[in-house]
Amino acid sequence: MTIGARLAVARRDLDAHIARIEAEARANGSASISFGKRIGDGTSVAVERLNEIAILERLTKQRRMVVRAQAKLDEGSYGTCDACASTISDARIEALAWAIHCLECADLEAVPEARHQPGPSAAAQGPTPATTDTGSPWDSVRWTD
Ligand SMILES: [Zn+2]
Repeated sequence: MTIGARLAVARRDLDAHIARIEAEARANGSASISFGKRIGDGTSVAVERLNEIAILERLTKQRRMVVRAQAKLDEGSYGTCDACASTISDARIEALAWAIHCLECADLEAVPEARHQPGPSAAAQGPTPATTDTGSPWDSVRWTD
């Protein structure tokens, strides 16, 4: 499969996945009481919510990368890092068709998310993602799909 086709497939899958989670979130929003009742513990609903938010954030971020990678294909810069313009390794492209940064720059970007999107709320919250703001036991929970 060509890179272009892989990106198109990834984007379609992401769109479908995001739409499904958003639909589920809306459904849970209107049915949260009965859902909590069924589980017998409102905390389960909260966990469910945080899980959705975390997944949605990750998918949205990934989708942005796919869209950018498609643009890079069009403009002929695909395979070079958006940040430092060095060549992204074949192994990385193979593992991550929508890689738009080299490994080094991707690492830099992964840590200080707030640095790329400075704003009043980011400054107030610090580097801690909103989803772990609660200081709750979920901090140690590993989210899964
Ligand atoms: Zn780079």
